[in-house]
Amino acid sequence: DDEVPWVLGTQLTEQCGPLARAPEGSRVLLIEAHDFARRMPYHHHKLTLVFAAMRQLRDRLREAGYDVRYIEADSFGDAFTEFFTENPETTLVTMRSPSYGSARRFRDLVEEADGDLRVVENELFVSTREAFEAWAGDDEQFRHESFYRWMRQETGVLMADGDPVGGEWNYDEQNREFPPEGWDAPAVPTPDHDDLTRETADWVADTFDTWGREDEFVWPVTRKQACEQLDHSLTHRLPEFGPYQDAMRSEDWAMSHALLSGALNIGLLHPIEVVEAIEDAYHRREEVGLASAEGCIRQILGWREFMRHVYRRAMPELATANQLDATHSLPDFYWTGDTEMNCLSETVEDVRDHGYSHHIQRLMVLANFATLWGVEPAELNEWFHAAYVDAYHWVTTPNVVEMGQYGHGVFASKPYVSSANYVEEMSDYCEGCVYDPDSDTGEDACPFNALYWDFLDRNEEPLRSNHRMGLMYGHVDNKRDAGSMADLREQVAEMREAAADGDL
Ligand code: FAD
Ligand code: SF4
Repeated sequence: DDEVPWVLGTQLTEQCGPLARAPEGSRVLLIEAHDFARRMPYHHHKLTLVFAAMRQLRDRLREAGYDVRYIEADSFGDAFTEFFTENPETTLVTMRSPSYGSARRFRDLVEEADGDLRVVENELFVSTREAFEAWAGDDEQFRHESFYRWMRQETGVLMADGDPVGGEWNYDEQNREFPPEGWDAPAVPTPDHDDLTRETADWVADTFDTWGREDEFVWPVTRKQACEQLDHSLTHRLPEFGPYQDAMRSEDWAMSHALLSGALNIGLLHPIEVVEAIEDAYHRREEVGLASAEGCIRQILGWREFMRHVYRRAMPELATANQLDATHSLPDFYWTGDTEMNCLSETVEDVRDHGYSHHIQRLMVLANFATLWGVEPAELNEWFHAAYVDAYHWVTTPNVVEMGQYGHGVFASKPYVSSANYVEEMSDYCEGCVYDPDSDTGEDACPFNALYWDFLDRNEEPLRSNHRMGLMYGHVDNKRDAGSMADLREQVAEMREAAADGDL
């Protein structure tokens, strides 16, 4: 049989995988399946990113002499039928997608089309499934910090003679500053998008029911643009990434974040090249401190890899996990941005504008509020999946259902919840808000506060025995002793009514 590389829309690289090993001039398959893009109201920029990047790779491979078969079809099944009718004696070979069950689904579809499919290891991660299995053994719960240290040792990144560079594994406590007045974030570069990308953006707008802004598309869609974005990031963003990593500012959607997740998650950049470039920048450039370099490397070598394996191990349960029995639906303002809560309206606006918000907005504003409100994790997961340019089931699900909402317990040891306290300390949102972050009850009280106490109160049974929650339940006891818990519950009941009328 002839083997033909089939390049998935999230694996758009010639650097590794079957395509890298195919002889010059080989036949290559790409499938642009449109049904999946109709499954939810995806952000316009997300669909533009994936479809434009696929079409760009198609043209680049053709110029390099490959015989590219590019099939636009409603479904993968239709595309396989078309392909195997034309190429009956071929076996498709593709890297495993990290999405749960996809290898099996693809195999079934290929079989129905009378074809053959060979699925090989995904080379677009730093770690392999086998290595993770050997490290994890039969454990059912995993801790990121020990995984991360193991990854540092395995790869030798930021290591010196077997010890972490600088003597510590983790400089997280140096990542919590707020920028001084007058600080300007580095400008976000926009690639010089060509006609193909612009036409794809128009076609997406005409063809699909999308959400979010249709102009201002800033994301790289080619390998070259992604490499330029990486250079820009290393030069202008990395030096201040560390200190301001946890801060949030109004009208500042990107701050000093890397803006690389979109390109990484469709294969335009390989995580190890990014990690090595950061390490190199740390060794060569004085302005890149260890807290910045280690902090960014931890996200990519640690969290990103960890999420992929944990997802694999906890699926299929993870997708619908809901250990706190949260059953409320997602408030409308996640889609409309129409709320008086400044932190939420600013953040939703960032997402509508760019299909992006940075990590702390995702965790401490969007997921925090949803957890306090009691939103069903699967529904929030769907919102994230539709709204972000970097959202794919394997990475969104563990981040939202587990890290954001404590749905399962596979790696989170407690819910990441907080009252207005955190937002007030780490952002400038509260200054421009009608609500008062320092009051718990009354008309002006910040909704996060009463919701926070109500969350602890209503989830006492599963959470009180968690030793990491001891301090919080000490405060709950004080509220009860002071007789204020009933008022807080009442406040929450009123809030739910206001939200139902679109008045929160
Ligand atoms: P930086 O903050 O500058 O970090 C550098 C890189 O580290 C990122 O490009 C990304 O590749 C990686 N990274 C950092 N944190 C994580 C993480 N927790 N999981 C995986 N990779 C990480 N990331 C996604 O790629 N897709 C998602 O759908 C997604 N959904 C999220 C949902 C929630 C509720 C939370 C709390 C986090 C989510 N993240 C997701 C992780 C993280 O917020 C984004 O990767 C990051 O904000 C991307 O921006 P950046 O490229 O500017 O990254
Ligand atoms: Fe958000 Fe509350 Fe601060 Fe308003 S007061 S910005 S709702 S945390």
